[in-house]
Amino acid sequence: MDLVLTPEDIAFRDEVRAFLKENVTDDMRRAGALTAGFLDDPEVAIDFHKVLYEKGWVAPHWPKEYGGTGWTPVQRNIFENECARAGAPSYNGMARQFVGPMLMRYGSQEQKDFFLPRILKGEDHWCQGYSEPGSGSDLASLKTKAESDGDDYIVNGQKIWTTHAHKSNRIFALVRTSSEGKKQAGITFLLMEMETPGITVRPIIGNGGDHEFNEVFFDNVRTPKSGRVGEENQGWEIAKYLLEFERGGAPSAGKVRSRFRKLAAAAKKYCPDDPDMASRIAELGIDIDAMEMLEIKDLSERQMGGNPGPVSSLLKLRWSQIRQETTELMLDVVGADALRWAPERPLYEALQLPREEEELLSLGPRYMNYRAYTILGGTSEIQTTILAKTMLGL
Ligand SMILES: Cc1cc2nc3c(=O)[nH]c(=O)nc-3n(C[C@H](O)[C@H](O)[C@H](O)COP(=O)(O)OP(=O)(O)OC[C@H]3O[C@@H](n4cnc5c(N)ncnc54)[C@H](O)[C@@H]3O)c2cc1C
Repeated sequence: MDLVLTPEDIAFRDEVRAFLKENVTDDMRRAGALTAGFLDDPEVAIDFHKVLYEKGWVAPHWPKEYGGTGWTPVQRNIFENECARAGAPSYNGMARQFVGPMLMRYGSQEQKDFFLPRILKGEDHWCQGYSEPGSGSDLASLKTKAESDGDDYIVNGQKIWTTHAHKSNRIFALVRTSSEGKKQAGITFLLMEMETPGITVRPIIGNGGDHEFNEVFFDNVRTPKSGRVGEENQGWEIAKYLLEFERGGAPSAGKVRSRFRKLAAAAKKYCPDDPDMASRIAELGIDIDAMEMLEIKDLSERQMGGNPGPVSSLLKLRWSQIRQETTELMLDVVGADALRWAPERPLYEALQLPREEEELLSLGPRYMNYRAYTILGGTSEIQTTILAKTMLGL
């Protein structure tokens, strides 16, 4: 699918292309191509983030007053597509996509003044402390407790599946501050430093062999109340607001399409005369087109201000399924060549092979890791329930 671009849009696209050509190095591109998990490693992405910062392009979706670009939705779409096409790495999306907008709405002036510029400069790396053993879909049942002690809270408990906790210096977490009334009514939203005594991070290895997520333990962690966002026990409302940005805040079309292009190229090479495969790939391409249109519509609506709303659940649901289908089809297309497995991680550090061979070794782990797309950020069953309630009124 190609959007009809105005001459101004084409000039903008060319400017973005030239910028990316100059600043996305081959090492960055290779690391991205060989990352079989969900996120680029910060050490791979930070240099590009700094260049974006200098250019003023780190957070195009933020209001201009906070450092956004003021681009139109089409420009935003062009930028994301071009970044994906160029293989540009992404640094700490959690900070730019979720923490920033959440702080703009619920943070104190002091918190906004302190954290937002640091996010833009790439000075902090954030991780998300929502899930606990036994509290995933039923998040409101969480038990990690924060007890008031003067100007501090004392935090005890455990988080799980905390992506990049081992690479982060800050965590935003949900903690229980009351057991009275409804379970949602006793939750508080807390920002903490990962270096605080009493916080321990233990790795979990994903089914693709990568270390991306962790368990995080809190043992009598003393943390200042100045890190609380909003009022005590207001955390559930803030948590849900942030989740809208997690599920629908970041355009996905560019990245999915760049993987789809690789799939189409592999099909040409491995099974050029297979009509069944051609039809499966065409169907997937149509799904991507449809989702991209929905995404652009969503971007235009948000250009007027506001949060993604319930459509974020639809975007999350379908993009995760499409991402899974793309990796599954890729394995079907490549066949036995995709069955080789290199146990070392990260692959971009472990391998020194011709590029095409290296990329084949990332297909299996990526397929395995991507099974989790329909779980992370809220499972597909939870998204369909939200959609049924909010959009269908069931
Ligand atoms: C790769 C990855 C990265 C993650 N990163 C983070 C992170 O950085 N920070 C963080 O806090 N969490 C993170 N998570 C955790 C994620 O949010 C949870 O795994 C998710 O919310 C599901 O919770 P659960 O694993 O406890 O599964 P459960 O909630 O136990 O669900 C098990 C199954 O039961 C179904 N189910 C549960 N309740 C219902 C219901 N009411 N109706 C219908 N079906 C239901 C689910 O859909 C699922 O199929 C990550 C998870 C993954 C896989």
